[in-house]
Amino acid sequence: MFDHPSFDAHEGVHMFHDATSGLKAIIAVHSTARGPAAGGCRMWNYDNGEAMLKDALRLSQGMSYKNAMADIPLGGGKAVIWGNARIDKSPELFRAFGRAVNSLQGKYITAEDVGVSVADMAIVREETPYVAGLDQGEAASGDPSPVTAKGVFLGLLETAKRAFGTSDLNGKTVAVQGVGHVGGHVCDYLAEAGAQLVITDIDQAALDAVSRRTGATIVEPNAIYDVEADIFAPCALGAVVNEQTLERLKVKAIAGAANNQLIVPEMGELLRRRGILYAPDYVINGGGIINVAAEISGNYSQEWVEAKLARLVQTLGEVLDEALANNTPTNEVADRIARERIAAAT
Ligand code: NAD
Repeated sequence: MFDHPSFDAHEGVHMFHDATSGLKAIIAVHSTARGPAAGGCRMWNYDNGEAMLKDALRLSQGMSYKNAMADIPLGGGKAVIWGNARIDKSPELFRAFGRAVNSLQGKYITAEDVGVSVADMAIVREETPYVAGLDQGEAASGDPSPVTAKGVFLGLLETAKRAFGTSDLNGKTVAVQGVGHVGGHVCDYLAEAGAQLVITDIDQAALDAVSRRTGATIVEPNAIYDVEADIFAPCALGAVVNEQTLERLKVKAIAGAANNQLIVPEMGELLRRRGILYAPDYVINGGGIINVAAEISGNYSQEWVEAKLARLVQTLGEVLDEALANNTPTNEVADRIARERIAAAT
C-alpha cells in the first residue's frame, strides 16, 4: 500500500467485506485537512482488486483537489464498491455499505457516483447520517448535474475569452461528447449563447432529444475528435485526451465536465504545445460538489451555491491566466494551487 504509485499520502484506506450481502468496498480518505473527506461512491465491475484500489486512490485524491479549488470546507475521499451495478445491487449491499461509512464516524461523507443512484443513497441513509445527494430531507440538494452544467458553461466562456479574445460564442462550433445529465444541460446553455453544436453519444434517444432542442448536428462517437470545431467539451468519459486523440483534435480549447480527461498529466504539456487551452477538469466541473457541500452544511442555500460557483469560475480564469503568462500547462498550475490550499489547512 505505502509504495503504491497512487498512494499520495492518503490518511486512510479502508477495506470492507460483508459476507452476507457480498459487499466488497474500499473507502479511501485522502485528506481531512480542510474538513470531512467528501466524494461519491462508485459501483464498478473491476477486473481485479488492484484496479479497484487504484481507482479509489486516484478518485479520492482528485476529490481533495476539486474541493480545495472550489474552496469548500471539505477534504477528499471516495468509495468504490466492487460489482456490476446492473445485476449485483441489493438493499442489503447498500445497508452494509452504509454501516461501513458509519464506522468511520464522519471522517468520510458519501454520495452518488457512477453506478449508484439517489435510491441507493436513501438505503445508505438508513445506516448512517454521513451521506449527501439525497432528494428527501431538510437540506436535500437532489441532482447536482444542473449546477455542474452551469459551472461548465460559465467556465467554457472564461476559456473562450482567453483562447479567442472573446466569450461571444456566436459563430463558434463546440463539439460535445456525451449528452447525459450534465452534457444535455451544457448543450442547452451553448445553443442559447449562439454556438453551433456537434454532438455525440452512444444513446440515440438522448442525441435525438438534444438535437431537436438545439439544432445540433449528430456524429458517430469516434468521429467527435475529428470535428472542425473551436472547442471540445468532453462530458462523457475520462482519458479522452490521449496519444491517439491528441493528433486528431483541431480545436483551440477543451472545456467539459468529464473527470480525469487527460490519460496522464503529461498530456497537459502536449496540449499546450499544440496551442490548445485546457480547462482543468476538476476545476471546471466543481459545481456539483458545491451543491452537495451546501447540503452537507445542513442549511442548503441557493445564494451560497451561486456565490461559490461564481468564485470557482473566477479561480478557473486565474489558473488559465497564470498558465498562459508563464507558458506552463494549466493542469500543473491547478495542481499546485490545490496542493498549496490543502497544505495551508493541514
Ligand atoms: P451521464 O451518465 O448522465 O452521461 C454520460 C453520457 O455519456 C451518457 O449519455 C452516455 O451514454 C454517454 N457516453 C458513454 N460512453 C460514451 C462514448 N463512448 N461516447 C459518447 N458518449 C458516451 O453522466 P453525467 O452525470 O452527465 O456525467 C458526465 C461526466 O461528468 C462524467 O465523467 C462524470 O464523472 C462527470 N461529472 C459529473 C458531475 C455531475 O454533477 N453529474 C459532476 C462532476 C463531474
